[in-house]
Order: sequence, then C-alpha cells, then structure tokens
Amino acid sequence: MDTVLAFENTLTAQDLALLRKAGEATHAAGIRMYLVGGSVRDALLGRQVLDLDLVTEAPAEEVARILTQPLNAQVRARSQFGTLKLHAEGRTLDLATSRTERYARPGALPSVQPGPIEADLWRRDFSVNAMAVALWPDNFGTLLDPTGGQGDVQRGVIRALHSESFQDDATRILRAVRYATRLDFRIERRTLGWLKRDLRYLDAISPPRLRRELERLFEEVDAPGCLRLAHRLGVLSAVHPALGHPGLRKAIQAARRMAPATQGLLVLLTYGCAATEIDSLSDRLGLTNEQRKVVKDTQSVKALEPHLTYPRLLPHEFADAVNGMAPEAVLTASLLASDRFAQSRLLRFVDSWSRVVPALTGRDLERLGVPPGPLMGTLLDELRDARIDSRIRSKQAEIKYVKRWLRQVQ
Ligand code: ATP
Repeated sequence: MDTVLAFENTLTAQDLALLRKAGEATHAAGIRMYLVGGSVRDALLGRQVLDLDLVTEAPAEEVARILTQPLNAQVRARSQFGTLKLHAEGRTLDLATSRTERYARPGALPSVQPGPIEADLWRRDFSVNAMAVALWPDNFGTLLDPTGGQGDVQRGVIRALHSESFQDDATRILRAVRYATRLDFRIERRTLGWLKRDLRYLDAISPPRLRRELERLFEEVDAPGCLRLAHRLGVLSAVHPALGHPGLRKAIQAARRMAPATQGLLVLLTYGCAATEIDSLSDRLGLTNEQRKVVKDTQSVKALEPHLTYPRLLPHEFADAVNGMAPEAVLTASLLASDRFAQSRLLRFVDSWSRVVPALTGRDLERLGVPPGPLMGTLLDELRDARIDSRIRSKQAEIKYVKRWLRQVQ
C-alpha cells in the first residue's frame, strides 16, 4: 500500500495551497512534480517543513515558465546545476530537474545529466533524504521511496546508498554527523564502516566546500553534539591533523557554555592547536580573513596567558594587554586557559572590564575646563583605568579626579 502524506501540522495552509497549485499547473502541461529531499524526511517525522524543494523530469526553465502565471512567480536565481529559485506568493521555491550524477574522481563536482526521478533519488546522500512526494492531482501526497528511506526514518537510521558514497563526496561524512545529531538517529553499521574507512577522502574536498559544510555544522542547534560525534569518529583529525590535539574534548565540552556562533566554535576548536599549525589549518579550512584574525587572536591570547597571571598586574594593565583582541578569542581563553587565575581575569575582562567607560564625556571635561586636544583622550583613558581598578567608583569621584588633575597641570 502506498504511503500518502497529509502534511497535517507539517506544512502551513499557504504552503500546502501553493504546492497544490504548482502540482496542478504542471500536471496540466503533462509534467509530474515532486517535493523531495529533507522536506519529505521532515514531513514524515512530523516536523515543520521549512524548505520547499521541487523536482520535475522537465527542464526547470520550462517549469518556471509554466508556473509564472498561475503562481505569479518570478525567477530569483539560477545555479550552475540548472536549478532555479522561484519567488511565489511570498515564498521561495527551489526548482530542479531530476538528474543523474557521475563523479570523475573523488571530491570532484559531479557531471550532471537529466534522468528519471528514481535515479535522482538514488544519487542522494542518505536514504532518509532520498524520498519524493507526488504533487499532482489524484496522487497528491503519495510517497516515492525507492531506497527504503521511510523504514530508516522509522528506525532512526542514517544509511548511505552505496559503498562508494563517501568516496564520491566526502562532505557526506560531515552531513552524516549533522543529521545523526540533529535527528538523534544512529549511523547504520555498514554506513559507519564506510565512513571510517573513507575518512581520508576528506582530503579531496576543496577548502571552500569544507568550510561551507563545517559552517553548516556549527549552525546546528546542537553544534557541540555534532562536534562530539565528529571527534569520536575521527572526523575532525581527518579534516586536519591539528584538530587531533589532546585538549579537544575539553574544548567541545566548553562549547556548551558558549552562545552558539560559528566564530566562537571555530576558536574553541583551534585553541589547543600548536601555533605553528594555525596557518596550514586556516588554509585547509578556507577561512575568511575575519575568521583567520579571530583564530590568530586566540593564539595571541593563549601566548599572553603566563603574563596575565603575574600577581602584581593591575586589572587595567591586564585589560590593556588583551584589548583589541577578538571577543571570541578572549572568551575562549577564559573557558580553556589552564590557569584558574588567568581564566577568572579573562572572564572579568569579557563580562565587565572590556565594557567600562567613564561616566564623564568629552563635553563634561570641556565644561570642567579641560582644553580640547590629545590630553583629553589621555584623561578619559586614565578615568577608565581608574574605574577598572576600582580606584574610582562614582561620577563625583571622577569629577574630583579631573579637578585634581587640572590643578596639577595648571
Ligand atoms: P537541511 O535540513 O540541513 O537543509 P536538507 O536535506 O534540505 O537538509 P540540503 O543540503 O539543502 O539538505 O540538500 C537538499 C537535498 O539534496 C538533501 O536532502 C539531499 O537529498 C541532497 N543532497 C545535498 N547534499 C548532498 C550531497 N553532498 N550528496 C548527495 N545528496 C545531497
């Protein structure tokens, strides 16, 4: 018996109406339209369907033309694989032509040919992502599941579709980690064997693709969970040996205490790396200039640590030493520094010292008789330092300090 999805509670009424209209309009032109991929997986799980990924066996351009009038749709973007983004009724639809793929060599982008919908499903990463739902009248909601994805959704299993899947495209290794964590699924036994066997194929993935896939992992709600699994499976050290450092487990645990953010997780992972490995790691991950700076700052804060613990270093001197470093770098060091005293001072810097400003402004100083010019900046810095050191605690005390300063310079 065919499974028919009702999309109750998984699609909004507007999206459901939009899909029905799209299915009808293409059907009238003799074309079968399907909802595919993660949307079907999420619908089967009773989760809200966020993306509307549509596939037909006809050229996407032709389908876009057919939908223009009934959906009042406009093409917004075209990709190198002939997929389109259509804007319709306030919603974005991803439109693709079903295709087969061939990988000339591991990690290369595949060469793509139009092909039947079943072949399109078989080229996908995992069975749970390899299902389609018919959208034309009479069959609306009927599941097409050539690879057994529905059973795997029910069993909670991530299963690759053939033994060379990770060799063809090793980004699927990171995808497996992501889905297993997000859905709380286990990676099927044979798939796990292939994944571990083929970790070295990650070397074939270009830095920009690797970065994109890692960023997607960092963006997951349970990014620390993804990292823990990736670490356990040896994925992180396969990405780059520098990510096999002994402090990694502690760093991943600390990630739970950090607000989720790509930059923050990146520095947590790299904190324990040797300084000499940072450039090669940054190249391998294809980091942006901004990301490179944060990772470098992390190493600089780490290098400062022994000096930060010098007992007579005043709070403002400490703050000066770390000032200008990326906040994520300082926060990471506050979580991971080996010395507790340095940790607590770094945390004080993040939580309060980095935000300290005097109560008096430049205008206030002028009114008190301070001549405009560089001395005013120096005086404001002195006030901030005195505040950080708790030598001054109120506006009144600041005014007293300025008056004394004026008496000394006049
Ligand atoms: P998410 O919920 O993370 O967005 P998704 O399943 O929509 O998940 P996408 O990365 O948007 O994921 O990909 C859409 C679909 O394209 C996937 O469901 C999968 O079928 C297929 N796909 C994506 N990347 C790959 C890949 N590297 N190899 C094979 N199939 C892939």
